[in-house]
Amino acid sequence: MPLADVSQRPEAIGTRGSGHRTESILRYGDHLAARSRFIEPQHVRESPDGRHLIRYRWADPSSAHAYRVGIFAGIHGDEQSGVIAAMQLLQHLEWDPRVAQFYELFIYPICNPWGFDEGTREGESGRDLNRRFWGHEEDGEIRLLEQDLRAKRFDGIIALHTDDTSEGIYGYANGSTLTRHLLEPALHAASGVLPRDTRPEIDTHPADSSIITGGYTGILAAPPEQHPRPFEIVFETPQLAPLGRQVEAHLVVLKEILKNFRTISSEGMDI
Ligand SMILES: [Zn+2]
Repeated sequence: MPLADVSQRPEAIGTRGSGHRTESILRYGDHLAARSRFIEPQHVRESPDGRHLIRYRWADPSSAHAYRVGIFAGIHGDEQSGVIAAMQLLQHLEWDPRVAQFYELFIYPICNPWGFDEGTREGESGRDLNRRFWGHEEDGEIRLLEQDLRAKRFDGIIALHTDDTSEGIYGYANGSTLTRHLLEPALHAASGVLPRDTRPEIDTHPADSSIITGGYTGILAAPPEQHPRPFEIVFETPQLAPLGRQVEAHLVVLKEILKNFRTISSEGMDI
């Protein structure tokens, strides 16, 4: 189905057990890639009939010195806005490659395909995959993602989420010390789309101006041995907000982070 249909009809992908949603996103992305000079489908398969991780690579055609950033969505299968935003980012890159000038991007729109098809937060094992990184090997979805996180050694990791308890947008800043300086302006820019959650405690964690440092253990992150640490941002939209607004907020945040990381890195700013 065309992506516009998905974003305009959230019920179409929000109903448990209707299946094939991952297949629809895959078809849409591959179709986009087939018409693009710069988007490459690089899906990962564990074995010929095995588990499938959807992955698209986009590389700035004008630059050899790329910063490598991974964008991850849909690790909680019932959070749709990040998935749609990740796919729309691919479309936007096709329209305007300057959005990611100097970047090599790896986009993983559906990190939990089983959950996405079933409309559930958890992975196939029934476990919350975003508590299982680096220390638990039994979830197949995690194995594929960990392999890639190790192989790619990202300069930045952005994970897109939706929170059904939040009153506005907020984020987690981890990894490199400059992360907060990327997240703050991104939240500011996205507050034109959806308000910030300004409560002192969000999702059981102390928050400062919509930013949480630390948070849960076992979330999608760079491998523990990777140094220096990349910037690591988790961005959350309020699930009760209209889906279109959530998607737009994700897109604003992604573009703002890419813009500012490029600026900070090129100026060699030491924050
Ligand atoms: Zn989530």
